[in-house]
Amino acid sequence: MIEQKGILFILSGPSGVGKGTVRKALFEKDTALQYSISMTTRPIRPGEKESVDYFYRSKEEFESMIEKNQLLEHAEYVGNYYGTPRHYVEETLDQGKDVFLEIEVQGALQVKENFPEGVFIFLSPPSLDELKNRIISRGTETESLVMNRLKAAKDEIELMDAYDYVVVNDQVDHAVDKVQAIVKSEHCKRERVASQYKKLLEVSQS
Ligand code: 5GP
Repeated sequence: MIEQKGILFILSGPSGVGKGTVRKALFEKDTALQYSISMTTRPIRPGEKESVDYFYRSKEEFESMIEKNQLLEHAEYVGNYYGTPRHYVEETLDQGKDVFLEIEVQGALQVKENFPEGVFIFLSPPSLDELKNRIISRGTETESLVMNRLKAAKDEIELMDAYDYVVVNDQVDHAVDKVQAIVKSEHCKRERVASQYKKLLEVSQS
């Protein structure tokens, strides 16, 4: 049998752009993608479930995972740790299934270093104005906090260069369609398809 490894897809982008919403809408559709559940030290929110939304762990447990190199990437975000358990990702890719990560930008850059063959998708706001409105409409923030977040978002947008694709999140269903199109296109890439044919020929000649 010819084994084909799965493809690792990474969806990332500035805070407030709607990564979580796009990811949830994507997984509500029929999809063969496997979502990698992240680990976090942040408290569980109402409506969330352990081992569905996240693996909720103490700081000590999380740090022990870091020490044992059991995380593919990790980052500190608003005072909490977030990270991707390595084992699930590697095992699932080895089974030939595609894995999907939805993570913030520092983590995505680490994955890029350790796993450059991944497919990196940058979810971008329609405009900074739109991003500002979304941040403000979340409520409670003071103007200086909004300005700080905007500055952080501008810095993050400069990170676009590290990505293979940019998907503008103007409407969630459009963004989901585009992500699905990227997944399909990646499976049609000559390098991937041709290597399978070459292996097939090697097997049939031996
Ligand atoms: P929230 O606390 O709102 O669920 O997530 C906060 C941020 O953490 C989001 O931008 C989300 O994409 C990101 N995030 C979730 N899981 C991971 C992870 O495993 N690694 C990294 N680096 N970021 C993550």
